Amino acid sequence: MQLMKFNPTKSFFTELQAGQGHPLVIAGPCSAETEEQVMQTAAALKQQNVHLFRAGIWKPRTRPGSFEGVGSKGLAWLNRVKRELGMRVAIEVATARHVEEALKQEIDVLWIGARTTVNPFAVQEIADALQGVNVPVMVKNPVNPDLALWIGAIERMYHAGVTDLAAIHRGFSSYQKSKYRNVPVWQIPIELKARYQSLPMIVDPSHIGGKRDLIFPVSQKALDLGYDGMMIETHLTPDKALSDAEQQVTPDALKAILAKLQVRKTNY
Ligand code: PEP
Ligand code: MN
Repeated sequence: MQLMKFNPTKSFFTELQAGQGHPLVIAGPCSAETEEQVMQTAAALKQQNVHLFRAGIWKPRTRPGSFEGVGSKGLAWLNRVKRELGMRVAIEVATARHVEEALKQEIDVLWIGARTTVNPFAVQEIADALQGVNVPVMVKNPVNPDLALWIGAIERMYHAGVTDLAAIHRGFSSYQKSKYRNVPVWQIPIELKARYQSLPMIVDPSHIGGKRDLIFPVSQKALDLGYDGMMIETHLTPDKALSDAEQQVTPDALKAILAKLQVRKTNY
């Protein structure tokens, strides 16, 4: 087995925030809902120097019957964000078809969601679709606390020639009662980082916390551990969001959270 020798000192992700002295900020709604919502959210986030705009268009919902995303038509909305606001845009991909559609529309960054990282067949299909393309990819941890599955998904991307990689820590499912929606189990990402020191680490406090109040403390903890950035779900009217309503914050609330965060350490 050829082990991943991940060692880029410069990558898309480190360059995005280069010289700014503050962490990488990825923000945007859990789901793209309407063209207006996407454009208005992105415009508000551009004011805050958000580095990368996120929006899910294909939503992997745990149970059927809830909003499953607007689908391919959302790609054109993200294209408008890119063209008219000059922001970079990221979406979740879960199949080879998603990758092909995203690449046709020049989406800047793809991410693999927690429900996909658990499935090596799905991850390999995505890797095959990315062969020879080298678009930046962020890999969320699997829903279950399994470091090897997380590493395996990152390796599959790397072996497909993807060198601009980042890991997103979004916490792990647990049947135990907890204040978190997904328990952070910080040792797992710490172990990942110990193995791949140049791999950018991004925290997703929205899915870890599951509620607005936990976004600040979870982000601060991650920064104290030396994380490179965070992905925070942002909605114009969070209570009316079609997915993850309780954990989304307004652009103004995001601004307040970012202003309060302190970078106290730079290394693990
Ligand atoms: C999301 O980012 O909206 C999402 C579905 O996240 P996760 O894959 O972490 O559950
Ligand atoms: Mn979400």
